[in-house]
Amino acid sequence: MEEGRVIKVSGPLVIAEGLTNSKMYDLVYVGEQRLMGEIIELRRGLASIQVYEETDGLGPEDPVFASGEPLSVELGPGLLTAIFDGVQRPLDKILDIAGEYITRGIQVNNLDREKEWNFHPQVKKDQKVSTGDILGTVQETVIIEHKIMVPPGLSGKLKEINSGKMKITDTVAVLGTEDGDKEITMLQHWPIRKARPIVNKLVSSEPLNTGQRVIDTFFPIVKGGTACVPGPFGSGKTVIQHQIAKWADAEIIVFIGCGERGNEMTDVLIEFPELTDPHTGESLMTRTVLIANTSNMPVAAREASIYTGITIAEYYRDMGYDVALQADSTSRWAEALREISGRLEEMPGEEGYPAYLSTRLAAFYERAGRVKCLSSNERTGSLSVIGSVSPPGGDLSEPVVQATLRIVKVFWGLEDRLAYERHFPAINWLISYSLYSDKFEDYLNEKIDPEFKKLRDECMALLQREAELLEIVRLVGIEALSMRERVILETAKSIREDFLQQNAFHELDTYSSLEKQFNIIKAIIAFHRLALQYVEEGAKIEKIFSLSVRDEIARAKYLPEDKPKEFEKLMDKIEDQMKKTVQVGG
Ligand code: ADP
Repeated sequence: MEEGRVIKVSGPLVIAEGLTNSKMYDLVYVGEQRLMGEIIELRRGLASIQVYEETDGLGPEDPVFASGEPLSVELGPGLLTAIFDGVQRPLDKILDIAGEYITRGIQVNNLDREKEWNFHPQVKKDQKVSTGDILGTVQETVIIEHKIMVPPGLSGKLKEINSGKMKITDTVAVLGTEDGDKEITMLQHWPIRKARPIVNKLVSSEPLNTGQRVIDTFFPIVKGGTACVPGPFGSGKTVIQHQIAKWADAEIIVFIGCGERGNEMTDVLIEFPELTDPHTGESLMTRTVLIANTSNMPVAAREASIYTGITIAEYYRDMGYDVALQADSTSRWAEALREISGRLEEMPGEEGYPAYLSTRLAAFYERAGRVKCLSSNERTGSLSVIGSVSPPGGDLSEPVVQATLRIVKVFWGLEDRLAYERHFPAINWLISYSLYSDKFEDYLNEKIDPEFKKLRDECMALLQREAELLEIVRLVGIEALSMRERVILETAKSIREDFLQQNAFHELDTYSSLEKQFNIIKAIIAFHRLALQYVEEGAKIEKIFSLSVRDEIARAKYLPEDKPKEFEKLMDKIEDQMKKTVQVGG
């Protein structure tokens, strides 16, 4: 392999000459310590290399060793439960070798080479197979079966297929191809900056249910969709992310933490492994891959981490799984991009971010989708991407938020004002949106209830009307409102408190099925319609809104999922109590 020479070092950026045969995004090793780096620019015989480890002590004349390969991830059994850094080095292994302060140039395998997996073949000798076909499976964790697929680009006739205990580098199959025999192991490599191949993208109209009422009912995301959640400090960003990781009906979670302050990442490293998967009772890590950029890691590793994460996520999608990738926060990634761009002396765009910020972001979110997987057997998988953004001062007009909003289809606008008022999740219903809502009309109406969409829209209209009415009240007082408008205020308050507010730490409230979500809004709107009717007929508003059934509506969110009959009783009670009030002469 060719060897170049360092001519300049600027923080995480190294300029080298003599790498004439190397290509963009090739992996190189810099200096005698062999620090990991990636070529990010090639111009006039000079290579700009972003280095994923501290560059202190490096200087001109130090050697640079080309690898001839693009920066890639290792894919195979052992990914789940693992915690990696931004360039997929297993954190526990480097900590074991190097202690808390990661020394440089440590060479570790990304995936464990010693561990044995029990491989169960699903194909027979002499069978013809092609890219993406499943050769067999290994039980990767108690709940997830890892499918060993024919790597991209290979097809042919199986000359040999093995079974039983094997290491990831052992040969599971020998494939006779046009270019001769190829040994296939459980280990694949894939360059992180290149999307893994698929047959095509499919339209997705199936929701990624999260069990969080404000999301599923009002601002839903589809399987394979994209969402953005800006999170000022203390607004409940972490709780939302954990709730999604725990409850969303995705089979695999890839969580990328790009923290800046040390403690942010330590939180993820400590908290995540402690979460229990409510569906199985096992640790959530049994279906999770965690990528953590701690603060003592150089900025360039942060830039690479989202690509490392999404490549791993695509690999599980290719097996036919529904995967959810959460990136927290993409602002830290953008800052890394800005720093490197500055050192490359590129022309800065808005707030110093490079002009290609939006194309890079788009290329990242573009890798989401529900897809037809490459394989001769029909298989679909999905990859949903949820990126959080942490704009300084919560400013939504800032470039990273704006660029992200132009790409993603869902926006959950977390607000610290709501968090102060202890309205959780602190998603502002007036600024949030989902461009997928319409896609769900059929789904919700067919699968849950033909009235779902209508009631949902009615609730949203009431919430919007509330905002206008509150403005009037602020200016001229409640007396200015008609009785009808006062009923609207009462109902909107009920929608906020009894439906939108959801306590992540309450055993029964933490998750709501779509059925339960529907039942709650149905009760609220039933009460609302009767209240309007009776108030117009002359009943006293105070009396109607002090009916005891109102408390029962407020407690409906705590009703267990397995007792749908309770909601029928509640509907009867609403009518009953209302009628009685009016009969006594309202
Ligand atoms: P951030 O990550 O944005 O700094 P957190 O997610 O840590 O904020 O939330 C801050 C606090 O808000 C939590 O410790 C918790 O007390 C409260 N909180 C947030 N979301 C909820 C929720 N859905 N239910 C109950 N409490 C919540």
